[in-house]
Amino acid sequence: MAEFTQWATLLSVTNLTPHVRQLVLLPKERPLSFAPGQWVSLKLPVGPNPPLNRAYSMAAPGTASGELTLILDRVTDGLGSGYLYGLSPGNAIQLSGPYGNFTLPSQLDRELLFIGRFTGLVPIRCMLKQMYAHHRMDSVLLIAVAPDEDDLLFHHEFLTLAIHHPGFRYLPLVAAGGEQQAVDLVLSMLRPLMNGGPQMLPMLCGTKQFVRPLRAYFVESGYERKEVKTETYD
Ligand SMILES: Cc1cc2nc3c(=O)[nH]c(=O)nc-3n(C[C@H](O)[C@H](O)[C@H](O)COP(=O)(O)OP(=O)(O)OC[C@H]3O[C@@H](n4cnc5c(N)ncnc54)[C@H](O)[C@@H]3O)c2cc1C
Repeated sequence: MAEFTQWATLLSVTNLTPHVRQLVLLPKERPLSFAPGQWVSLKLPVGPNPPLNRAYSMAAPGTASGELTLILDRVTDGLGSGYLYGLSPGNAIQLSGPYGNFTLPSQLDRELLFIGRFTGLVPIRCMLKQMYAHHRMDSVLLIAVAPDEDDLLFHHEFLTLAIHHPGFRYLPLVAAGGEQQAVDLVLSMLRPLMNGGPQMLPMLCGTKQFVRPLRAYFVESGYERKEVKTETYD
């Protein structure tokens, strides 16, 4: 089936950290129904062969009024994110979607283990909001890695969730040394938790350099590849 592309109006722009911004969009033609963890493709009028397609995950579950909340960082020399950082409320953006399979399993029979780095936490935050709204917070561990202390995304929100839901455990980490240090730190937290056989449902999100070594570690530890859900960002 042909992809349906439509215009959306940018309703608001909010800086969440010095490097991360939230955009709220309202599709003009059709409401977009999506599962938390999915993403939209923005068609941006930049680059040598416009439109430039860039994927952004929904940061909050769907609402009755149909807004889409996206959260992105400004990548150095990034064509798409640079363009999006120049937009103001009232501007229009073309998009299609939703897409993607990085979504919650229908049955949660093991502890859910979310691991995200920086904006890789965006779809995870969306899933957590959905779970919280539907009282499905039985057993969740979130390992959240930030590139610096200012960029610990959703930190207060996750702390509040952890205070109110004993089944939700939140482990924030800061790794200023890039993806490799982030992977090393996460592995040092994971090793004591891996007490024989696949006991968790891992869901990993971030750049390839972050996600791939972690997935490899789960596979070496006895998980089947398909048991480790991943979303990679570059
Ligand atoms: C399924 C999916 C969902 C995504 N969801 C989000 C989201 O919710 N929020 C978000 O901020 N991004 C998200 N991304 C990443 C996003 O689509 C863009 O890749 C990112 O914004 C950079 O695009 P750009 O055009 O600005 O950079 P480009 O012009 O493509 O790249 C410029 C330079 O930056 C490097 N680079 C590209 N992407 C990244 C990155 N993410 N981190 C560090 N360096 C990078 C490139 O290798 C290149 O050297 C998602 C990607 C995918 C595939």
